[in-house]
Amino acid sequence: MARFIFVTGGVVSSLGKGLASAALGALLQARGFTVRLRKLDPYLNVDPGTMSPFEHGEVFVTDDGAETDLDLGHYERFTGVAARRSDSVSSGRIYSNVLEKERRGDYLGKTIQVIPHVTNEIKDFIAIGEDEVDFMLCEIGGTVGDIEGLPFFEAIRQFAQEKPRGQCVFVHLTLLPWLGTSGELKTKPTQHSVKELRSIGLAPDILVCRSERPIPQKERDKIALFCNVRREDVIAAADLKSIYEAPLAYHREGLDQAVLDAFGIDDAPEPDLSRWEDINDRIVNAEGEVKIAIVGKYTQLADAYKSIAEALTHGGMANRVKVRIEWIDAEIFESDDAARHLEGFHAILVPGGFGERGTEGKIKAAQFAREKRVPYLGICLGMQMAVIEVARNLAGLPDAGSEEFDQDAGKKRFTPVVYHLKEWVQGNRMESRKPSDDKGGTMRLGAYSAILAKGSKVAGIYGTCEIEERHRHRYEVDNKYRAQLEKQGLMFSGMSPDGRLPEIVEWKDHPWFIGVQFHPELKSKPFAPHPLFADFVRAAKEVSRLV
Ligand code: GLN
Repeated sequence: MARFIFVTGGVVSSLGKGLASAALGALLQARGFTVRLRKLDPYLNVDPGTMSPFEHGEVFVTDDGAETDLDLGHYERFTGVAARRSDSVSSGRIYSNVLEKERRGDYLGKTIQVIPHVTNEIKDFIAIGEDEVDFMLCEIGGTVGDIEGLPFFEAIRQFAQEKPRGQCVFVHLTLLPWLGTSGELKTKPTQHSVKELRSIGLAPDILVCRSERPIPQKERDKIALFCNVRREDVIAAADLKSIYEAPLAYHREGLDQAVLDAFGIDDAPEPDLSRWEDINDRIVNAEGEVKIAIVGKYTQLADAYKSIAEALTHGGMANRVKVRIEWIDAEIFESDDAARHLEGFHAILVPGGFGERGTEGKIKAAQFAREKRVPYLGICLGMQMAVIEVARNLAGLPDAGSEEFDQDAGKKRFTPVVYHLKEWVQGNRMESRKPSDDKGGTMRLGAYSAILAKGSKVAGIYGTCEIEERHRHRYEVDNKYRAQLEKQGLMFSGMSPDGRLPEIVEWKDHPWFIGVQFHPELKSKPFAPHPLFADFVRAAKEVSRLV
């Protein structure tokens, strides 16, 4: 049966709980243990699928089609363990399950209360698959003291109480602010945060303290004394140049040892950190730099395209170059000349997105890349826009567009080269959707296979003709325009196994121009860069050597 590690946060949000959890997971793996990581989010949305990327960053999609918090992306990138639907839950989902059971009469007429009904639902969730791994790491979103978080804290308290002694360990992340005027790191917010935790019955075993300066021994001793932890259990978390340094940095600080000590495990092997050392060597000793433009809509918040930025970094590691990303708001091309903003980049990436705003600019970016022979990777909406560009400018369909925008506008304005997908095959069953369906969870979601054309560029890059990638979209390029578009040289080089859904397009006589309907970025890892990203960065590197 698994041992449980609960990771909570205090003082302020955005301290890097997700990263600390992911790094700890990686360290336990490096010592030969199996792990699974989970995220429990206190917000009331049923899932993050309908939340704006500006609010909450990217939506991470799992193989089994769940729309989850972006922290699951960190977990996968650090451990390589594919996340599942049962690794992410929100208060909204928990309450909706409880209310559904109440309506069904499952509670046999009882009064439904936060304790025990909501807390039981949370505990059941935490325990899913507990016999599959050595360690289950559960991160609680938000900070201690948030009203929405209380049922989760109460649930983990009960959970640990019901398990045999020593089977659950609590790690709490806090901040030690630096006061420039007095030249000190202050421990009081950490003391208060731990006090808050203790008042709801949780005593942290290990404190991970974020601070921008090294923590002197005097402060460590003080934290240990006032927060009732051992000195070795005060772990410093300094700011890092790259997130991929985190496993090495936390190991140096003794986090994994502190966790093993807290469980009373004294026969664990030393960790094999060679994988992380290699990754860091590739980052620190990069042999050049490529400049890649990401032409998108949610460019003000880097978290909105978190996995893409990480996948590009992995592509850089594969080629031993640093990837410098510049975010360009697609809307600026609508009033301006695309060329002026895109000149000087070694490659262009147009990511996924929803809604019409900015799409004319993305179409111009695709046209620029095609005409100027700049490497182009279009992801999801970025593929759809590349197809519309060809339809309009080469294939004689000047009013080509996507049904998505007609639907938003409430009238028909375009020839729907990209149409609303209403029926498709998922494994061995048929999925269907109506335009009036709910917004949440009704897209084509999760892992699907695709068949690649022999001799195509993508088949060469993947090194196989059958792939599986994750999807998240409602609209799809209409196969009925295939012949018309292929005549211009745009090859439909990846199709769904039934041959009905175009999954990949590529330009035959272009150095590197590929559009994919799925999200390859979700499967890239630092120790296994995604082939498309690795080759895209390689193409960019070639351009950089020519100029
Ligand atoms: N909005 C488009 C669709 O639903 C693209 C989605 C995406 O880029 N993830 O098909």
